[in-house]
Amino acid sequence: MNTLKMKDWGLGLGKHVVIAGPCSVETEKQIDDLCNSFEREPQIGMFRGGVWKPRTRPGNFEGLGEEALPWLQKVKSRLHIPVCVEVANANHVESALKHDIDVLWIGARTTVNPFSVQEIADSLRGVDIPVMVKNPINPDLALWVGALERMYDVGINKLAAIHRGFADPYDKIYRNKPNWNLAMQLKLELPEIEIINDPSHISGKSEMVQAVAQRALNFGMDGLMIETHPNPKEAWSDARQQLNPEQLLTLLKEISFRERIDFENQIPENLKEMRDSIDHIDQKLIDLLSDRFHLIDKVGAYKKAHELSVYQGGRWKDVLDSRIKLGTEKDMSEKFMKSMLIAIHDESIKRQEKQIANKDVEPLTII
Ligand code: PEP
Ligand code: MN
Repeated sequence: MNTLKMKDWGLGLGKHVVIAGPCSVETEKQIDDLCNSFEREPQIGMFRGGVWKPRTRPGNFEGLGEEALPWLQKVKSRLHIPVCVEVANANHVESALKHDIDVLWIGARTTVNPFSVQEIADSLRGVDIPVMVKNPINPDLALWVGALERMYDVGINKLAAIHRGFADPYDKIYRNKPNWNLAMQLKLELPEIEIINDPSHISGKSEMVQAVAQRALNFGMDGLMIETHPNPKEAWSDARQQLNPEQLLTLLKEISFRERIDFENQIPENLKEMRDSIDHIDQKLIDLLSDRFHLIDKVGAYKKAHELSVYQGGRWKDVLDSRIKLGTEKDMSEKFMKSMLIAIHDESIKRQEKQIANKDVEPLTII
């Protein structure tokens, strides 16, 4: 795995960039109205606007296309901030470059398809433009990383990722459920790539955008992309989730842009002490677990010698119930206790089966 080395975008974007603008560019007046509202707002670092809209079913508004790009060019001269659009194929790229769009992004429905991503990458060979890659619709880290790598491989070294959540048919809360863990895994795999959060597409409703945005910042995300419309109720797409400019500015005032610690340089002394204690406790936890597994091996040898079965349902139920009770009494959730105990039990069963069979066996989850 090659690490992707990033260059400064050279667009004067501050820390925790805020990208705002409509889901879809609809009319020149809509864009002018937003410019009027954003004019004296230094916190807004980039303007977004969709002109090619990927819609799940035909018959919905699919964007105005090239016709709308000159209005975005006008935003650049009015607000002096970069503008970005979504591109889904080589024609879109050509048209966006022709109209001096500063930054491109790849949408969730495109990231899932390596052919489309490669087509975009090929059309960008030799072009120096920043590209932001939204996560694919399904929580597949490799597809997300793969799309970033395809861009990097053609020479794009100004990249960012956008976490816009994942489709989950069983979830009733979000439009696209966030997966903070996966976003952090992306950060571990590609440490130089900043991750921008898109609370609009995650929440799907305007009243939830602020809470999701705050959560993202708490998790150390590097910026926000928030859909904003002069009159969200009348929006031609994603009406339910867009904020009006006043709501956006209130959100920006109220949320806390948390500082991230620069691991290479300064870690405050008291935090360092607490982290040292955590390291120490983890060492003890691992020693204890190792002692537990050695005992399990002895029990396995005993069961083998006496031709006893590995799994005893009654004993497991007692272990599970009593440990969950102990854990919840000490302020740990039942869900956490249960999943931790199941992981330990799976490993124990596996070790005992290995002793009996004298070879590795597939782990088996017994709940
Ligand atoms: C958008 O940003 O308007 C959009 C279509 O997003 P996504 O690709 O995340 O669905
Ligand atoms: Mn949208």
